[in-house]
Amino acid sequence: MFDFDLFVIGGGSGGVRAARVASEAGASVGLAEEYRLGGTCVIRGCVPKKLMVYASGFADAFADSAGFGWTAGEASFDWSKFMTAKDSEIDRLESIYRANLQNAGVILFDEHATLADAHTIQLGSGRKVKARYLLIATGGSPYIPEFPGSDLASTSNEIFLHDRLPEKTLIVGGGYIACEFAGILNGMGSQITQFYRGDQILRGFDDDVRQHIAGCMARRGIDLRLKTEVASISGEEPNLLVTDQDGNAQLYDYILYATGRRPNTAGLGLEDAGVKLGRRGEVIVDKFSQSTVPSIFAVGDVTNRVNLTPVAIREGAAFVETIFNSNPTPADHIDVPTAVFTRPELGTVGMTEQEALAELAGVDIYVTAFRPLANAMSGRDEKNLMKLVVEKSSQRVRGVQIVGEGAAEMIQLAGIAVKMKATKADFDRTVAVHPTAAEELVTFKRPVRTS
Ligand code: FAD
Repeated sequence: MFDFDLFVIGGGSGGVRAARVASEAGASVGLAEEYRLGGTCVIRGCVPKKLMVYASGFADAFADSAGFGWTAGEASFDWSKFMTAKDSEIDRLESIYRANLQNAGVILFDEHATLADAHTIQLGSGRKVKARYLLIATGGSPYIPEFPGSDLASTSNEIFLHDRLPEKTLIVGGGYIACEFAGILNGMGSQITQFYRGDQILRGFDDDVRQHIAGCMARRGIDLRLKTEVASISGEEPNLLVTDQDGNAQLYDYILYATGRRPNTAGLGLEDAGVKLGRRGEVIVDKFSQSTVPSIFAVGDVTNRVNLTPVAIREGAAFVETIFNSNPTPADHIDVPTAVFTRPELGTVGMTEQEALAELAGVDIYVTAFRPLANAMSGRDEKNLMKLVVEKSSQRVRGVQIVGEGAAEMIQLAGIAVKMKATKADFDRTVAVHPTAAEELVTFKRPVRTS
């Protein structure tokens, strides 16, 4: 009576992983993707963004090389050349995703899909298919609030397709995507102004880290305007007139809004099928990613839990383990290490100092800010920041914060120690690797604050 054991809507990080491993576990699987396989991460998120981070980083390398005896010729950046190379890499990755799914036996539908009922999918072509289980993995989309001229602003979706490097860019937002694009476009040579309505960027991250990164961004020439909001936009690219809430007006040639994302659930037919949605439109699920309808599960950004690719992948795999391998596996959202690719970049895992103070009885804080060896030679006025958040009673390291070159790579490894519940004494017992920045993590002597 069913066409498939599992039908997945959405070919992004979570949907692709779930479809592939379910098929490998012996299930018959269909998957519908309306845009491009790989989803946000591969097509217009993590991967193209990281390629842009690499591209923008050469500006530092050229500038710093003089301190090491190099005379570099005049460097210039060619946006179109970069975009062509970036697009072909994304095409290559997309084709690998398609091949992997097909090789695993997943039947692909390159079309929009919605729910007709708790077991039935309505495909864009008009065809209906039935499945024992449905997995909603439709991700999220950037969201721009409505105000006069809001339609003139772009989002992260469009910047990856833009035809030239904007000369003068306004970035609106203070979250990680806004701050990353401020660093990327600044490194590529665009003049950046960043508006954020709050009193410090990177809300939710550790306060020391937020302040440190904001200072570094400002020193790199990013004009960071806190407590500032856009009132209106008029004109047309590349002459967009932006007026802020105090009536100050300025021209920009590109406006990038990164003020938040919304789960993709509108028009999917979820509520008619009995699926409960949350305040922001997210699918409400339990720890096994099961919705309020027993046959319908949801993973990834559409559930608005921890909106990161590796988390969506783990949720997809845990769902398959639970349903198709008879091994109930809850999604694990504890101590997820993550990175923010600002310049300098941030790696973070576990608790911030503020979270620890709110949740733990006593906390020891170890922090150091220091000029890394390379910057001493290059003359770059930028410090690294290293921080350990230690629970006083158990001496467990509950949080690690790293700002500096290589922080994303470092935090992946520090994340293992935190996940294994390492103590400060375990960190101390570990011999330093010298000369590195990471050695600071194992050579902290005394807490700078204790409560
Ligand atoms: P998605 O990857 O968004 O996939 C959902 C898919 O469903 C899409 O392909 C969409 O086209 C499709 N779809 C939607 N509705 C339908 C429908 N009705 N029918 C058919 N198909 C449909 N995460 C990190 O871990 N590290 C990073 O550095 C990072 N950087 C990011 C940078 C940017 C600019 C953005 C926007 C996100 C970034 N993320 C990063 C987050 C990461 O991309 C997401 O957490 C991840 O892609 C979520 O995967 P998902 O499977 O839930 O959804």
